[in-house]
Amino acid sequence: MATTQSLSAADIKVDQTQCFIDGKWVDAASGKTFATINPATEQEIAQVAEGDAEDVDRAAKAARKAFDSGPWRTMDARDRGRLMYKLADRIEADMEELAALETLDNGKPITESRTADLPLVIDAIRYYAGYADKIHGSTIPIRGNHLCYTRREAVGVAGQIIPWNFPMLMTAWKWGPALAAGCTIVMKPAEQTPLTCLRMAHLAQEVGIPDGVINVVPGFGPTAGAAVVKHPQIDKVAFTGEHRTAQIITRDSAETLKRLTFELGGKSPNVIFADADLDAAAHGAYVGLYLNQGQCCCAGSRLFVEKSVHEPFMEKLTALTSSRRLGNPFSPDTDQGPQIDQAQFDKILSYIDKGQAEGAECVQGGKRHGDVGYFIEPTIFDGVTDQMAIAQDEIFGPVLSVLTFDDHEEIIRRANDTFYGLAAAVWTRDISKAHDYAARVRAGTVWVNCYDVFDAAAPFGGFKMSGYGRELGEEGLKAYTESKTVTIALG
Ligand code: ADP
Repeated sequence: MATTQSLSAADIKVDQTQCFIDGKWVDAASGKTFATINPATEQEIAQVAEGDAEDVDRAAKAARKAFDSGPWRTMDARDRGRLMYKLADRIEADMEELAALETLDNGKPITESRTADLPLVIDAIRYYAGYADKIHGSTIPIRGNHLCYTRREAVGVAGQIIPWNFPMLMTAWKWGPALAAGCTIVMKPAEQTPLTCLRMAHLAQEVGIPDGVINVVPGFGPTAGAAVVKHPQIDKVAFTGEHRTAQIITRDSAETLKRLTFELGGKSPNVIFADADLDAAAHGAYVGLYLNQGQCCCAGSRLFVEKSVHEPFMEKLTALTSSRRLGNPFSPDTDQGPQIDQAQFDKILSYIDKGQAEGAECVQGGKRHGDVGYFIEPTIFDGVTDQMAIAQDEIFGPVLSVLTFDDHEEIIRRANDTFYGLAAAVWTRDISKAHDYAARVRAGTVWVNCYDVFDAAAPFGGFKMSGYGRELGEEGLKAYTESKTVTIALG
């Protein structure tokens, strides 16, 4: 294939477009398909099988068989780990192609796909591969003449439903712990971006992960997604997406009492104290919001700047933002690609209108970029107040709300004045202020003098309406296990 210097959409092979069930590529039972769109050109890339309840049922039965009597759970844990290492190696070998496919389907700049998404994907699978043979319980001293111990067993068939903002990375975050624990999988990728998840299923088969262990059913949320949530043979649902969808999933899963883990939205406060290194803070604010076209659940979209440094800070931030290059995501010089689809594009522009109507000052951007593709200029609103919609709602686009503050106690209160609690950041040279903020802000991740630092070993997830349970790290693994207590009379 061409090098990324000269890549265009036409160079990229799209080979997997069907459902992947029990190791076979099959059409949806209904025969229906849907289009996946290149958001940079608004052109159709391919037609993809539109899975529904019948396909999910087949996938769930295959996963059940692979779990109950199949080779995965009963396989020597070291061999399971070895297959996962092979998958990571295979992804690494195909890095260029996978990065290009991700950029095609999602619109993110090729440089980001190659230097952020792919390395994190590989890291997550390798990290959990190492865990496969290190999952164990403990011996517990109990009363009487008994031996008591716990076993950590795989939870069973895991239903996994992911969004479109990091399609491959979300696949890896979900598959890694599930596979290491010995679970089998029914995955429903986002309808906007099914292609890289399907390619990963192909690679998993190539490296020898047995049939039925990973099943992928592309399709829509209320049909295929809901069928995963309701299926009686699926034990757990791991979901990343909007809190409103999580509420529906909670209701739909009540009948079968599934184990649930949710990683949901955010409106993360990024706080700049006057004593911070302002260059580093401005860069952190810039990356923290604009990364991935602002389509990050942990985007630092409420930027609080201490009043005394507001002016110099804004100069630095706006200078960085003006240098941002929008355009063809396959160009290695592009910093920002299109938003994912028409619906998100319209939603973001409507928030820009709301910001203006509510009296915030749009100091940068504020419009569509170009006239083809879902591109939106990086946009900064200054003079934002806490109750404005642009300070409260998750916009999921390149729109930054800047607020000011005067003192430490005030900022703790205001940072927490949101129903979300996914991430938060603080920039200061004062270690006491940093620790106090880290302890008192209600968020699952706190970054101090940095932003968007991710590692497969560090748990990630939300407080409040940003979800429950954690992904990554040991906690992420435990979410795919059940604890079993065994007590043996010794007398
Ligand atoms: P986003 O706004 O990021 O698309 P969603 O929560 O709507 O967030 O979608 C995330 C994932 O959840 C997608 O794969 C989508 O198809 C799926 N989904 C949407 N609605 C439902 C539902 N009712 N049940 C199960 N999955 C759903």
